[in-house]
Amino acid sequence: MSVLVFIESADGAIKKSSLEAIAYGAAMNQGDVTALFLGQIDQAELEKAGNFGAAKVLHVNDERLNNGIIQAYSSVLAQAIEKTGARFVVLAKSALGDPVAARVAIKINGSFVSNVTGLPDTNGGFKVTRSIYTGKAFANVEMTSDVKIIGIRKNAVELNESGSSATIETFDAQLSDADFGVQIKNIEKQEGDVLLPEADIVVSGGRGLKGPENWGMIEDLAKTLGAATGCSKPVSDMGWRPHHEHVGQTGVKVSPTLYIAVGISGAIQHLAGVNSSKVIVVINKDEDAPFFKAADYGIVGDAFEVVPKLNEALRAAK
Ligand SMILES: Cc1cc2nc3c(=O)[nH]c(=O)nc-3n(C[C@H](O)[C@H](O)[C@H](O)COP(=O)(O)OP(=O)(O)OC[C@H]3O[C@@H](n4cnc5c(N)ncnc54)[C@H](O)[C@@H]3O)c2cc1C
Repeated sequence: MSVLVFIESADGAIKKSSLEAIAYGAAMNQGDVTALFLGQIDQAELEKAGNFGAAKVLHVNDERLNNGIIQAYSSVLAQAIEKTGARFVVLAKSALGDPVAARVAIKINGSFVSNVTGLPDTNGGFKVTRSIYTGKAFANVEMTSDVKIIGIRKNAVELNESGSSATIETFDAQLSDADFGVQIKNIEKQEGDVLLPEADIVVSGGRGLKGPENWGMIEDLAKTLGAATGCSKPVSDMGWRPHHEHVGQTGVKVSPTLYIAVGISGAIQHLAGVNSSKVIVVINKDEDAPFFKAADYGIVGDAFEVVPKLNEALRAAK
């Protein structure tokens, strides 16, 4: 048996969520792990896949695959499953991974479960747990098909580095014009040093910050921590911050290792976008703010006093 892991990159580096998918594939203990990468990338970057548990990387070194074209990616992933004989396919839940996996499951008559929160239970079957209703409940799902495709949520496994490197094999997948029926002409990147959906640390501000002129301290704290900045819905609705920073049920859903909420009340619609964060820190002047119930750590205090002091202390500790 073997495990195939579909990996993605951002800015020339394998995404952390894809490294987690490799680590997940290795932790499944279902045979050798092969990672599949589509498009052009530095070979040394691909070798890093070995550090997280991949024995081999199949590389489809085709310029046409530099942008994630769902049809073409689905075709290549289905071919790679056939080539490797993999019975398990792992990928990180993402805007690209989910539609690719769903199409491949239909192509190969397999099954696909997305948003999986941990390793499968293989006692008497193959069961996975997935997060549903924006993280408020879990569903236990049994997968019975021959080929099982698992889309994992961020932080589903710990990342441990082994120091090994993977061998790289070029994979000449067959692609037709029909696979490129949709073409991406150009991509406009979201501003900011760290992209919110991918961020490991997020510093988010709410209406408690009173106005856009006070966002400097949020940006300073984010800079110190190497974090992305986010905000609550009213903040982006009022134009204090751009819409792509709006976190929650109707905005971006994040699963960082650390989420710091400053001056945000913790309404259920906001929590729906952050409740799969590993550690939540809340700074609010109202000790009864609902966010404290979801927090791992809380500071009751005025953000205008707490945030600069916290930033200063973190800078000094660095
Ligand atoms: C259908 C629907 C979808 C929605 N989707 C979303 C969504 O995706 N994301 C989202 O965020 N919201 C969403 N909302 C809105 C949500 O219900 C809340 O209204 C919103 O999250 C509140 O934003 P806030 O916490 O910034 O503001 P407020 O509720 O006004 O809270 C401000 C907080 O700041 C604190 N504060 C004030 N001054 C200070 C200070 N000096 N220092 C420290 N703390 C201070 C206050 O104690 C308060 O807790 C949605 C609502 C609906 C109806």
